[in-house]
Amino acid sequence: MTLLLDYFAGYYILNSDSRDRNQLTKTNKFCEIRKYYFCIAALKKGEKMVPGYINLLNNHQLEQRVLKTKEHLIKCYLCPHQCGVNRSEKLGFCQASDKVVVDSYGPHHGEEPPLVGHNGSGTIFFAYCNMRCVFCQNSELSFGGEGQIITNEALAEIMLLLQNHYSCHNINLVTPTHFVPHILDALFMAAQRGLSLPMVYNCGGYENLETLALLDGVVDIYMPDFKYHLAERGSRYSKVKDYPEKVKLALKEMDRQVGGLKVNKDGIAHRGLLIRHLMLPGGIEDSKEVLKFIKQELSPDCAVNLMDQYYPANQAAKYLEISHRLSKQEYKEVLAFAQRLGLNLVR
Ligand code: SF4
Repeated sequence: MTLLLDYFAGYYILNSDSRDRNQLTKTNKFCEIRKYYFCIAALKKGEKMVPGYINLLNNHQLEQRVLKTKEHLIKCYLCPHQCGVNRSEKLGFCQASDKVVVDSYGPHHGEEPPLVGHNGSGTIFFAYCNMRCVFCQNSELSFGGEGQIITNEALAEIMLLLQNHYSCHNINLVTPTHFVPHILDALFMAAQRGLSLPMVYNCGGYENLETLALLDGVVDIYMPDFKYHLAERGSRYSKVKDYPEKVKLALKEMDRQVGGLKVNKDGIAHRGLLIRHLMLPGGIEDSKEVLKFIKQELSPDCAVNLMDQYYPANQAAKYLEISHRLSKQEYKEVLAFAQRLGLNLVR
C-alpha cells in the first residue's frame, strides 16, 4: 500500500497544483516515517552512513550555504565562465535562467557498479551545461534546454521520491553546476524531511573552486569528467579555453574534500572521488597524460572509469579525427597503461 501511495506521489510531482501538493505532503510524511524506521534498522545493523549535509543541517550551516549560493542568481560566478549576469534578466554561457529545469529522473542501472548497487542510482538530469562538447550525447537538454521548469520544492520531492519509493542508493545530480543554488535549497528542504542518501555531484569537471568550497560537506561523492589534458583539445571539442587548468584545480579540491572512493560491505559507495575519462579516437597520448595526473596528484584510492563507449554524436561528424568510434587497439593500449600505473579502475 505504501509503495502504491509513493508511486502516485511521484506522478504528481511535476504536475500538481497546491491542492495536490497538500495531499503529496501527507503522503510523503507517511514515507518519511517509514524511512525513519528503515534508517534506525540499518543503523542497528551498522550499515547506514550519515551523509555530510545532515551535519551541516544540524549545525545550521546548510541554510547559510543556500543563501550564499543564491547570491549567484543575481551575479553568477558559479563556474569558470564568470559571466557575472543577473540570471533573471540575462543568460550567461550556459543559457540557464534563474529557474531550475529538470529533464528526467529515476533509478539508473547504467552507472558504475559502486553507485548502482541493487536498486539503482537516483539520477536527476538537469537541462543546460557550461560546456559545448561537439560530441555531446544529450545535446537536446545540454544545449537546447529540453525539460520542465520546476520549483525547488518539487526538486525536493523528487529527491525524497528517489529515496522513499525507488530505494535508490544515492541522489545522482547530472550536470548540476549551474543549478547549485536550486539544488542546495531543495536539499535543505528534503533533509529536514528525512532525506539521508549520499549526494553525487556528476559534472563535466569545469568547476570553480569558490563553488566547490560551498559544496564542501554537502557533496559526499564527486564524479567529475576529466576530458582532456591538452588545452587545445578543450578549446576545439568543448569550446572552453582553459579546461585542463580548471579541471586539475577542481580535482585536487574534490580529493581534498572527500578523498578516495569508500564503499560499504556490499560494495556501494558512500563517499569519495570517482573520475570518468571518455577516450576519444586519436587521443591516446592525451589519455595517458590524464591518467598520469590522477596517479601523481590525487589519492591512490580515487576510482577511475576509463570509458570506451565514444560515438560521434551531435556535431562530431564535422571533426574528421573524431568522426568515428574508438578502436579496440587504442582502448587496450591505454587500459594496459592505467593498469601498469596501478590505478583503482572501475567499470
Ligand atoms: S553557471 Fe552559467 S551563468 Fe553562471 S558563470 Fe557559469 S556559464 Fe555563466
